[in-house]
Amino acid sequence: MSASIAIVGRPNVGKSTLFNRLVGRKLAIVDDRPGVTRDRREGDARLGHLSFKVIDTAGLEVAEDASLAGRMRAQTEAAIALCDLVLFMIDARAGLTPADEHFAEVARRSGKPVIVVANKTESRTGFQGAYEGFSLGLGDPVPISAEHGEGMADLEEAIAAILPAAANEAEEDVADTDAVVSGEEGEEEAIVLDAGIARPLRVAIIGRPNAGKSTLINALIGQDRLLTGPEAGITRDTISVDWTWRDKRIKLFDTAGMRKKARIEDKLEKLSVSDGLRAVRFAEVVVLLLDSAAPFEKQDLQIADLVEREGRALVVALNKWDLVENRNKTLADAREMFERLLPQLRGAPLVTLSGLSEQGLDRLMEATFRAFATWNRRVPTAKLNRWLGGVLEHHPPPAVSGRRIKIRYMTQVKTRPPHFAVFGNQLDALPESFLRYLVNGLRDTFDMPGVPIRLSMRSSR
Ligand code: GDP
Ligand code: GDP
Repeated sequence: MSASIAIVGRPNVGKSTLFNRLVGRKLAIVDDRPGVTRDRREGDARLGHLSFKVIDTAGLEVAEDASLAGRMRAQTEAAIALCDLVLFMIDARAGLTPADEHFAEVARRSGKPVIVVANKTESRTGFQGAYEGFSLGLGDPVPISAEHGEGMADLEEAIAAILPAAANEAEEDVADTDAVVSGEEGEEEAIVLDAGIARPLRVAIIGRPNAGKSTLINALIGQDRLLTGPEAGITRDTISVDWTWRDKRIKLFDTAGMRKKARIEDKLEKLSVSDGLRAVRFAEVVVLLLDSAAPFEKQDLQIADLVEREGRALVVALNKWDLVENRNKTLADAREMFERLLPQLRGAPLVTLSGLSEQGLDRLMEATFRAFATWNRRVPTAKLNRWLGGVLEHHPPPAVSGRRIKIRYMTQVKTRPPHFAVFGNQLDALPESFLRYLVNGLRDTFDMPGVPIRLSMRSSR
């Protein structure tokens, strides 16, 4: 028997839109026996790894004589009586209305598990309304856009937490794989996971003069081709070189080409700030190339700072490792320096290599793709708020000059880099130390080493 989920809420919040998305092309089984008021639709739904029955209470023809409140209530009660879980939908753009409160009351009284779904939150416009949904007292709202397919992974996660059996059923049914999840998350993930990547990953290798950039780039893509390109599999434009590593496409910022140009212009020893900025902006992942003999000099730190400000993922590469004698100590020292000097990028991968003897190149590329995956990471809202609940319990925000600060709810509004919105009251008064504590906690708990993490505060007044 599959689990049943009812979508309830006042008219126009988007119930049918979600129903259609979940059921997809598989035709809805409509209860259209003659003489029976059509008061719900049912269908077999798939959501990622889950499969379940879904009941929609929208688009109804009802007896003329029933009062609006009465008939809404009857439909909703009937649907709820049949289900194992209620998706209570609100329109996050419109905010809460008395009708929402009315339906919430019906849902609450049923005693069935409820997930509040805040619809119409595409492109971040509806997040304030999603936060209002919190005040229904039915748990953390899951922000979605039924129309655009956003937030479906979060919804899947929230449902799976309540109905784990829905996942088992989906497993047994693997032949039927046309999952209905779509939207930006899926597309972003595809870049990371697919061998035939949709588009190339953009990488820049940046470092001080003589760090070994040209040598490394030549080692990576093949010297002759770089010098004489374009050749088989390699194309080169004015700022980048395309190549593939283990079937993954990469667009590499052409530092070497820039250097050649600099030489012509007789500015050999200087990577200008604007060139550095250009390279960082070009890249999704920046490889900061250091000379192991003198890591983290001023210019290196400036580059790292630029990476942080521009919100890119960072990989630190300790080059000329072939020359290093006390390797353990050198690595430990470098790690210590990095954590001390660049706490805002804590945990970034540190790779040792030698461009000259072509060692460590695969490890560098693996770290680069891993950093890219981290940069794209999306933390489901339910998980995030479970974590936040624990944090606030053990480490409540301080009272600042008599003002009571309240944090209610968090959600990830963007990836690349991960960006979280915090909802509550008086959040502007939160001290810097508390924000750092939150960021560090996010980084550790959700495994996001070495990428900038953004927080924005959305106070309700
Ligand atoms: P229902 O009455 O609750 O079943 O609502 P519908 O599914 O019929 O949707 C009501 C209106 O909201 C329609 O115009 C939909 O196109 C619109 N709608 C549904 N989902 C979204 C969404 O995610 N974003 C936006 N902006 N509009 C939506
Ligand atoms: P760039 O200015 O960053 O492009 O640096 P280059 O690639 O021109 O290298 C500067 C110097 O460091 C050259 O003499 C290289 O031969 C040397 N070099 C680069 N990589 C390595 C390495 O991994 N090991 C050693 N021993 N020397 C290197």
